[in-house]
Amino acid sequence: MRQITLHDTRSGRLQPLEPRDPGRVSIYACGPTVYGRIHVGNARPYVVFSLLKRFLAHEGHDVTFVANVTDVNDKIYDAARAAGVPSEQLAREMTAAYMADTEALALGRPDHEPLASETIEEIVALIEILIERGHAYAVDGDVYFDVRSYPAYGELSHRQVDDMDQGEGVDGAARKRDPLDFALWKAQKPGEDTAWDAPWGRGRPGWHIECSAMAETLLGVGFDIHGGGSDLVFPHHENEAAQTAAARGAPLTRLWVHNGMVRLDGEKMAKSVGNIFLLHEALAAQGRDALVLYFCGGHYRQPIAYSEERLAEAARSVERIRDAGRRLVPGASPPELAPLREAFFDALAEDFNTPKALATVFEWVREANRRGEDGAVGDGDLREMLGVLALDGLLDADAAGGEPDAAAQELLAAREASRVARDFAVADRLRDELAALGWEVRDGADGPTLVPRGL
Ligand SMILES: [Zn+2]
Repeated sequence: MRQITLHDTRSGRLQPLEPRDPGRVSIYACGPTVYGRIHVGNARPYVVFSLLKRFLAHEGHDVTFVANVTDVNDKIYDAARAAGVPSEQLAREMTAAYMADTEALALGRPDHEPLASETIEEIVALIEILIERGHAYAVDGDVYFDVRSYPAYGELSHRQVDDMDQGEGVDGAARKRDPLDFALWKAQKPGEDTAWDAPWGRGRPGWHIECSAMAETLLGVGFDIHGGGSDLVFPHHENEAAQTAAARGAPLTRLWVHNGMVRLDGEKMAKSVGNIFLLHEALAAQGRDALVLYFCGGHYRQPIAYSEERLAEAARSVERIRDAGRRLVPGASPPELAPLREAFFDALAEDFNTPKALATVFEWVREANRRGEDGAVGDGDLREMLGVLALDGLLDADAAGGEPDAAAQELLAAREASRVARDFAVADRLRDELAALGWEVRDGADGPTLVPRGL
């Protein structure tokens, strides 16, 4: 088994992956707050940690991957109010949309996808322990974590306590003993239409405690990898780490692994900035294969630009791999190519370096093409490498490139009817369903046709 290292934010160093239970690796990655369709930036942690799971499984680990859904949150109340629908309905619809959008990435689903709204009992129990141990206090139906009661606070984000701002604004400011404290439970306010009973009164959990509770419920404390976007290091992950350590006397996780942001025109892609491409739109425009390749083209820790150039490069890479696949034959690859396969997996073992691993794939392809002039080359190595990146389907392009079946033709007809009726939301949804079946709609002079996605 290869030694695997990952960059750990807390220590600031590459650390060996030494699982709590040998042979088993547990991963928790923060998922979306479901108040709108997810964008390409939101999709990055889903892609990074789904692919990391595939790699660890390839290396022989039994991996459990948990990606939560934050379905109780201020942003959901605000968005539901603006849309004039109950917040529970908006959260349910957007959870379903998130599942469908990420399903179209075809990376395999996480093993567990807990909802905050279904973990309330565990959240309340965790808050009770924090109060008992003197790390939290209730005031007027709210509960706050007493940051100064936990001396190691700041060890993850490496910030000085006095430079911190929890970002909670004026909300609860008058009830906090210290402005540094953050909310574990918030009393129900007028206009908030979801609330649960708790010993401190009716209300709902704060965002940070939701993740601490969901993670330990499914994985126990001291699990192996806690992932998420680098924008979550502070305050979200700092607070998760503090709560769990204060309540349990043990660290939440062994390694904190953070992915860089997706950037558009030099700025972080974010709904608040307004520079977003929705994932389902990006999937429809680029095809699933090119989008997955685009993500693999950047090291997970670095920011990655969502640019025409990067997307065009990914599309060219898709073509190069398909092209190579057509010249290979099924079966074992020549042993002379094995060192390149090893280099591929070694690159992933060292801080999950997907761009380096991809470069090795193309070196393998060049070498195979050269050898192909003297006889058929088996595709075994390439299939194995691409399988870890969920791109091995590229080698079956010709097999999958037959005629669309009746179900696909029906969806295409329904989409065309919706377009004619100018019901574009339905038309987009049907296009996404076609994409999930592996078909891309091309609108040509003779009307729409279906082509295998990614071609
Ligand atoms: Zn979280």
